[in-house]
Amino acid sequence: MILLMGIAGSGKGTQGKMLADQNKMHLISMGDVLRMYVTGVQRERMLAGGLLDDHEIIAIVGNVLAQIPDDEEVILDGFPRTIKQAEWLIDQVKAGKFSLKLGLHLVASRSAVKQRLLKRGRLDDTESAMEARFDEYERSTMPLINWLNNNGVKVVNIDAERPVEIVNKDITNNLKLE
Ligand code: AMP
Repeated sequence: MILLMGIAGSGKGTQGKMLADQNKMHLISMGDVLRMYVTGVQRERMLAGGLLDDHEIIAIVGNVLAQIPDDEEVILDGFPRTIKQAEWLIDQVKAGKFSLKLGLHLVASRSAVKQRLLKRGRLDDTESAMEARFDEYERSTMPLINWLNNNGVKVVNIDAERPVEIVNKDITNNLKLE
């Protein structure tokens, strides 16, 4: 299992897809899964740029992962995003359900990703939702990166402000080292 983490607009979706295609890996995008299934208050929360409840997310990701054959390598885009979610994942690894290869942290500044998101124009790419997602990333996901490194999961920082192909090469090289 490979974890893809990073600020909104850092290219997790794009890089995840490239990696999955190139290596025949199974890609799970948490955001895509949630956009398909989540309704009502939760959907409002997503559109406002807030994170969804850890319990709910863990139940959903557990179901999705259970459907993937054991011999397929999985790329998880956008999970974990909080320490609680990571604790669950590590428990699963300890129980022998998955093996965790590497975390990839796509690093980019707010100003760089803002331009990308404005061009993309998804429903949650409004000014206020973007700011909320950037704040959430700083509050929840940044501390998680250190936490993972301190808990035996190697996370590599990847400069994600570079062109897509260069970032893809960098990621591929890092995977080869593992
Ligand atoms: P993304 O497509 O990765 O930008 O995710 C879009 C939105 O889905 C986020 O802003 C959150 O509202 C929600 N989301 C995705 N992954 C998670 C997660 N692991 N935990 C909580 N909320 C999530």
